[in-house]
Amino acid sequence: MICLYLHIPFCRERCPYCDFFLVTRPGFVERFFEALAVETAAKAALFAGQSIKAIHFGGGTPSLVPPSFIDGWLSQISGIARISAETEITLEANPEDLLPASLDALQSVGVNRLSIGVQSFADRKLRALGRAHSAADARRVVLEALERFPSVSIDLMCGAEGEMLAEWEGDLRAALDLCPQHISIYMLTLEEKTRLWRDVRKGLRDLPGEEAQAAMYRMAAELLGNAGYGHYEISNFALEGHHSRYNLASWMREPYLGFGPAAHSFLVDGDAETRFSNVSSLTRYLTDPVGAVDFREVLTEAQRFDEEVFLSLRIRKPLSVGFLRKGHKLGHQHLDDILVTLQEKGWIGVKKGTVTLTEEGFLFADHVAAELLSE
Ligand code: SF4
Repeated sequence: MICLYLHIPFCRERCPYCDFFLVTRPGFVERFFEALAVETAAKAALFAGQSIKAIHFGGGTPSLVPPSFIDGWLSQISGIARISAETEITLEANPEDLLPASLDALQSVGVNRLSIGVQSFADRKLRALGRAHSAADARRVVLEALERFPSVSIDLMCGAEGEMLAEWEGDLRAALDLCPQHISIYMLTLEEKTRLWRDVRKGLRDLPGEEAQAAMYRMAAELLGNAGYGHYEISNFALEGHHSRYNLASWMREPYLGFGPAAHSFLVDGDAETRFSNVSSLTRYLTDPVGAVDFREVLTEAQRFDEEVFLSLRIRKPLSVGFLRKGHKLGHQHLDDILVTLQEKGWIGVKKGTVTLTEEGFLFADHVAAELLSE
């Protein structure tokens, strides 16, 4: 079993807070898919004959691309490996791209899960975030997607300029009224060198502080939890049976193969675990879609331990105290003291020799991980 990821690096324009690898020149789409076919053929031996658990079209904005290109790549994949009715095929989409005809076309080429970048159901907040769609677009698209796809996920973002708790509550309640199967909650973060980062540094913009964001996150966990959405990962909530199979596999450290510029891969061969990343340059990718790799490394024991700790915390997978003792940087006694402190703060629970993040601990997952890592 393996998962596949395709990074489609095109957006109409860059949102002020976004630092993903992308270009705003959709004229390159055809050449991109030609290069992708070459990369896919060259990597075929890495997944030939395997069952595909999930395929994730991320970006960038995959919904900018005509569905015929998605269809062409899926056909190439199905000639190499096994896509079945169980394979989750997710495409990330922005509301402004999705007319009913494009939703029909995506459904007909095999997409069975749509992940929609709603961000907000309030026009004021969408403008503050620099998004191109309106609240009405977002509502219409979610409803139309729910009529066509067995699983629909929406992204909501909190912490926009001027956002108060009441506005955020409005977003959450609007989402719950629509009943998507999956909701992802993201806190707006300032990524270096973005337009938003520069504006905040110059004093032109002011964002809600950490405490305000934490209150928004707690409100989301409470409202979504009460509505029956399981909080299965820091940012992700799902109705029963609708978690993202692709994301969960990557947090469980299962193998996945990435295609397209800036795509990451994680492969397991016997005892060896390898991570590598394609180059973050469309020009270099188009010139050499097979050889243009940014980094490749075989993980050391310490890296494997750290990944297991960090990723298990995110999904609240219990970690055995014995396992933590073997890898921890400071030895048994220090680790035991740290566990007591983290428990007193209410960030972890320790039961039957295992450690799990608490609901409150989700907010402090990075701090907890930093205390438990090998170095
Ligand atoms: S649409 Fe998404 S990927 Fe594109 S710039 Fe905006 S946030 Fe980034």
